[in-house]
Amino acid sequence: AANPGPAGKPGQGKVAGIAISHGERVIDAESGTTKRALAEFYDSIAPHLLAQLAGRPLSLLRAPEGIAGEQFFQRHAETLAIPGLHRIATVTDDEPLIGIDSRRALIGAVQMGTVEFHSWNTDFRHIERPDRIVLDLDPDPALPWARMVEATHLVLVLLDELGLAAYLKTSGGKGMHIVVPLAARQEWEPVKAFAKGIAQHLARHLPRQFVASMGPKNRVGKIFVDYLRNQQGASTVAAYSVRARPGLPVSVPISRDELETIDGAAAWNVHTLAARLAGLATDPWVGYAHRQRLTDAMRQSLGLA
Ligand code: ATP
Ligand code: MN
Ligand code: MN
Repeated sequence: AANPGPAGKPGQGKVAGIAISHGERVIDAESGTTKRALAEFYDSIAPHLLAQLAGRPLSLLRAPEGIAGEQFFQRHAETLAIPGLHRIATVTDDEPLIGIDSRRALIGAVQMGTVEFHSWNTDFRHIERPDRIVLDLDPDPALPWARMVEATHLVLVLLDELGLAAYLKTSGGKGMHIVVPLAARQEWEPVKAFAKGIAQHLARHLPRQFVASMGPKNRVGKIFVDYLRNQQGASTVAAYSVRARPGLPVSVPISRDELETIDGAAAWNVHTLAARLAGLATDPWVGYAHRQRLTDAMRQSLGLA
């Protein structure tokens, strides 16, 4: 929470020990949220978000003038003056990558204009071996939400048949993200091929619902199963990250049972998330930690082997 600061003026103090410059700047006109309020939101959600970010290479979506101004992705640490930021040299990139595992670095990133936190499907300790698949369901924007709910169920049925447990989160935008946790056994290529196999299997057997090729023309009336989030260097917005979109929605984990009960991928925002978390009896992602392996039998079921 914010301190009143040396002058005792409210709104002037630090957040998590970080001085917030231009704290009064409104960064989202729709909700009237200031940069300081965004920093305070991230401070309040820090334990949840840091659990998602810790150990992973990150990309930051920065919007220093607010979400209506210029937005840019940053995936290297070089010029970032963020206290506690990890700059991690890797075999994959010439420049050090970004790691955040402390409240101070998290709020420091917000002070530098970060609105969204995106993470890779891997950990610095085993960067060549992804530890999850993310299926990013991207609808034709004209489709009603009920079609996204139906599509999410259909993907879950396929994953159930394969024997893979999966976890859901709203994207905070238009679609759902389906996360399949993996033991970090295989390298990027076979894991990406598996994710592509899921997308192509869905498009082949349920062509009215799904498409496995990118591009708005292919997607008319359908949902693109974006498997491209699973290549090396790709990222997906982290669970509990804010989105730089009007109203400042948040990407939020949900249980399978809740899928029917929400009215869209932007069901929660920076102002409503606290009430949801306070009302939860159990973590919607309980059981996430198990280490699943992709097997040849699964590949055969997808027509890959
Ligand atoms: P929506 O539900 O509206 O599709 P989304 O976050 O899934 O929201 P996508 O456009 O499908 O949005 O992008 C999926 C992910 O791909 C993003 O969360 C982001 O991590 C990554 N991404 C998309 N565009 C870029 C980009 N230009 N640079 C870096 N990463 C990107
Ligand atoms: Mn998407
Ligand atoms: Mn996408």
